[in-house]
Amino acid sequence: MKKYNFNAGPSMLPREVIENTAKQILDFNGSGLSLMEISHRAKDFTPVVDEAVSLIKELLDVPEGYSVIFLGGGASLEFMQIPANFLIKKAGYVNSGTWAKKAMKEAKHFGEVVEVASSADDNYTHLPEIKEIPTDIDYLHICTNNTIFGTELRKDLDAPVPLIADMSSDIMSRPVDVSKYTAIYAGAQKNMAMAGVTVLILKNDMLGKAPRELPTMVDYRTHVEKNSMFNTPPVVPIYSLLETMRWCKAQGGVKEMDRRAHERARIIYDEIDRNKLFRGTVEESSRSLMNICFVMSDDYKELEKPFLDFATERGMVGIKGHRSVGGFRASCYNAQTLEGVNALVQCMKDFEAQH
Ligand SMILES: *Cc1c(COP(=O)(O)O)cnc(C)c1O
Repeated sequence: MKKYNFNAGPSMLPREVIENTAKQILDFNGSGLSLMEISHRAKDFTPVVDEAVSLIKELLDVPEGYSVIFLGGGASLEFMQIPANFLIKKAGYVNSGTWAKKAMKEAKHFGEVVEVASSADDNYTHLPEIKEIPTDIDYLHICTNNTIFGTELRKDLDAPVPLIADMSSDIMSRPVDVSKYTAIYAGAQKNMAMAGVTVLILKNDMLGKAPRELPTMVDYRTHVEKNSMFNTPPVVPIYSLLETMRWCKAQGGVKEMDRRAHERARIIYDEIDRNKLFRGTVEESSRSLMNICFVMSDDYKELEKPFLDFATERGMVGIKGHRSVGGFRASCYNAQTLEGVNALVQCMKDFEAQH
């Protein structure tokens, strides 16, 4: 049976990305060696990193003065590496959910942390309202898409201080004004690649200001200076990232990704709002286009497990909600298809007809 992948991450990738990566794993560029077996310094691999960097710069229209690097360790490692490199005395964090909170916790190892806004009291069912951004902070940290709670800030904030964003789950899904950010980071396994690589976009002239001795690997300058080749980078994940960027460009780039994201999300949210069995968990103005969260309506609570079974039987994968929200979550990253979205909506309609 055909499967429709709504996993929150690692998540669906375009079929051709998987096939092209698989081919290179069997025989890299006709070399007779696997992509898994070559040196990252091999002359054929350097162009992979270079092209991946230049495609990211092209697709996101990254201005002069920024570097793109690839690291291991996931976005979670950046929760500590960001403050290590940028926190001088005090940083501001917007508490918009689980990941934002984790980032805040790690920053406390490096200095004072102020919570600039929070929606914790409402269990993160909307984006925090930022009333005022203090001007005495070294940077403001935001998480643009809250993967677990399904809220998203789909625009670029104007901040009077350096702005740093965790864009792990919505990068490459819309045009971004990179010039507004000092740093953008993303675990690539949601929208850009297989798991194993983290993408950073860093403003060069903001590096090297933190007043502490940094271990070599923690200092972003190490990786900027060596073009992500200071040590062995995640070779296969970077290759899959290159293929995804090529795919993204061929589809029409981030503008087209944005259009598709709106189209997919509208179809699912319309059905959630129409169907008497379901209700959304997020205030309308904060709804994420990437992670669409919904639960059974109060009168139909007991149908949660039966609906999950019903949808699973029809090939839906990964729609069970995160344990902190419950219900369901349909993740619709760039590779998600209209066919998948329509299959899910048909499931919801057919289930309603039975009840
Ligand atoms: C998945 C996710 C993370 C964690 O990423 P890892 O690569 O697993 O460390 C952090 N932030 C956001 C917004 C995420 O969606």
